[in-house]
Amino acid sequence: MPDTAPAPDLCHDAIIIGGGVIGCAIARRLTLEGWNVALLEKAVDILDGASKGNSAILHTGFDAPSGSLEQQCVADGYAEYIDIHRRLNLSLDRAGALVIAWNDAEEAALPALMDQARANGVTDIAPLSAAQTRELEPELAQGVRASFRVPREYLVDPWSAPYAYLMQAVVNGARVVRNCTVSGGTYHGDHWQLETSRGAVRSRVVINAAGLYGDHVDTMLIGQNTYTIHPRKGQFVVYDKPAAALTRHILLPVPTKVTKGIVVCRTIWGNLLVGPTAEEQDARDTATLDPATLDSLRQRGAEILPALAAHELTALYAGLRPATEFKDYQISAHADRAYVSVGGIRSTGLSSALGTARHVHKLCAGLIERAPLPAPHWPQVPNLAEDGPRDWQCAGNGGIICHCEKVTRRDIETALSGPLRATSLAGLKRRTRVTMGRCQGNYCVAPLADITRGRLDQPIPGADDG
Ligand SMILES: Cc1cc2nc3c(=O)[nH]c(=O)nc-3n(C[C@H](O)[C@H](O)[C@H](O)COP(=O)(O)OP(=O)(O)OC[C@H]3O[C@@H](n4cnc5c(N)ncnc54)[C@H](O)[C@@H]3O)c2cc1C
Repeated sequence: MPDTAPAPDLCHDAIIIGGGVIGCAIARRLTLEGWNVALLEKAVDILDGASKGNSAILHTGFDAPSGSLEQQCVADGYAEYIDIHRRLNLSLDRAGALVIAWNDAEEAALPALMDQARANGVTDIAPLSAAQTRELEPELAQGVRASFRVPREYLVDPWSAPYAYLMQAVVNGARVVRNCTVSGGTYHGDHWQLETSRGAVRSRVVINAAGLYGDHVDTMLIGQNTYTIHPRKGQFVVYDKPAAALTRHILLPVPTKVTKGIVVCRTIWGNLLVGPTAEEQDARDTATLDPATLDSLRQRGAEILPALAAHELTALYAGLRPATEFKDYQISAHADRAYVSVGGIRSTGLSSALGTARHVHKLCAGLIERAPLPAPHWPQVPNLAEDGPRDWQCAGNGGIICHCEKVTRRDIETALSGPLRATSLAGLKRRTRVTMGRCQGNYCVAPLADITRGRLDQPIPGADDG
């Protein structure tokens, strides 16, 4: 087991259900505000739900519904990320975005979209003609009609950031229990008793950040749910690193009511990705890849950047958005039961997480009075971004294990230790990028199996863990 079991004798100030990016950010905020916090995650590691597969764009919220809770949380989350990224060593690629119209209807939609951006406080946008657009992006296809530039749409590392949030919570006193499913609970007037797969645990306040299961957890704990999760799958194709040179900006289509559309952008690890799709499905746990859809993504990528047709793929992946029947986030406080539900954080949760966490803290005002930590610790997460300093460039790293992604033995040892140590291959990948490069683990999985033998809760498939 990766963590100690819940502490039945201790009554926490808050228990957060769910270790996605939202739960991690809430754990950090409440800990910094002086609360005694525990985060419970049912999976073997954190970031196993919606947060494991997204586009990794730090959105300004220029296209969010004006005046919505989502827009407010994205704006606040974005601002805090920029404010703290150096102190936690979070990556930031200041790519900027171009919103590109390819036909009459999309061109006609640009002025209203720019008005919306200004109404959302994103005022530094600039309209561009077709020629100006292609001057900024020489590899773009000929069919561009017009665009506008959103200079502050950036790229980030979608996993190191939430790890850093939760790590900051932990080093300042929070408790994290993985492999811990919340299966029921009762409110006793002044505290909750939650039943979990690892025993009972008590808390004054409960915060439901269960992502794709948010509605189920509400029903289980407060006997009602005011929204239903409709998982919306997004598939991606990831190109080899040379393809990243084909574009400087995040290339966005004109969004529709349902989706932000197919994006083409590099990643902070130096690849180029095309996606995501937006496909409704019932299953909440599985996001299967469909060859025909992936072919159409490749085709769309080459329609936008024709030179992409000559580049090879590194990987394919899919994620599930916790969408609901509503357009906005579904965050509600139930003061009479000291319960906050943080649901429906659909397609912008990575950007909004720090802002959503502030909003949740405000909703909890009056439930518990605590003084903020006077001098919190600021742990630094390892840099995995292509353009920053990496461990393979430093002495004494034990040698490179994964040559495609330049992951050292010391990178892996670091990820296998400490209070949030990796407990599965998936968790190790998210902390180091090991096996995620061109060879997809063909060359490094054997030494990796040796290094991790007996140290993962879920051994590497095929490895003898005896
Ligand atoms: C294709 C795609 C592209 C996206 N692109 C972007 C982007 O570019 N920028 C951006 O800002 N956002 C993006 N997003 C959105 C973002 O990824 C989500 O909004 C975010 O991950 C939601 O996080 P969450 O913490 O609410 O949910 P989750 O990550 O699902 O976390 C919930 C956690 O709760 C746990 N849990 C559930 N039930 C229980 C229980 N009973 N007991 C204990 N634990 C439980 C789950 O195991 C899970 O780990 C994208 C999403 C997708 C799918």
